[in-house]
Amino acid sequence: MAVIVDVFGARTDNFGYLVHDTAAGRTAAIDAPEAAAIRTALTLRGWELTDIFITHHHIDHVEAIPELKAEFGARVVGPRAEADKIADLDVLVGGGDMVTLGETSFDIYDTPGHTLGHIVFHEPVGRHLFSADALFSLGVGCMFEGAPGPMWEGVKALRALPDDTLVYCGHEYTASNASFALSIDPGNVALQQWAAEVAELRAAGRPTIPFLLGQDKAANPFLRADDPALASHFGLEGADPADVFVAIRKSKDNF
Ligand code: ZN
Ligand code: FE
Repeated sequence: MAVIVDVFGARTDNFGYLVHDTAAGRTAAIDAPEAAAIRTALTLRGWELTDIFITHHHIDHVEAIPELKAEFGARVVGPRAEADKIADLDVLVGGGDMVTLGETSFDIYDTPGHTLGHIVFHEPVGRHLFSADALFSLGVGCMFEGAPGPMWEGVKALRALPDDTLVYCGHEYTASNASFALSIDPGNVALQQWAAEVAELRAAGRPTIPFLLGQDKAANPFLRADDPALASHFGLEGADPADVFVAIRKSKDNF
């Protein structure tokens, strides 16, 4: 009983992911950024698409749903809270629910903020987290729809997952996130080390995904909003971590 994850690029800077349950031979696409990229990945692996797991309603995550559903008859699982914004969902889920792919189970977490109904898929046995635009390496998605409090709570719930969790996010934003993180947290050795590694990977044309959650816990400023050192960088000593979180978010928006 195991899963294989296939990582590929889609659109301009989206990641496409296929998750294959070896026991049952089922394959899920995590989000549907681009039909051609997903079809090519399936062909290279010799897998048949059976499922599509959707994280949020943005076009770069849902555009290929109708085409893939028509071609493969795949079952589409997605956020109940965004069912009115996403066509063709077959199974509606939210935080605390579980969804299966053959013999593999995924726990759903609510991660509101980037969009109000954003969800992520966590596979606890192999320790894979498909975080889409809720959690990037050294960053989080822009807060387009949510509020700071719930967004921080969602991110904190992901931070509570084991350090050896492999995180697969929606976009290759790590290098620019590293520049921002270093600007507000220049003395952080874990951050300096990961930023140097990121620079090497990108120079070699390689993705920074998947990344280790434990490494990001020490380096990602958004995962450290309750660290007094970051609070004091923003002059927010003793403030609610959600307020520090939003200060980091605003600072990144203007970086
Ligand atoms: Zn998005
Ligand atoms: Fe996106």
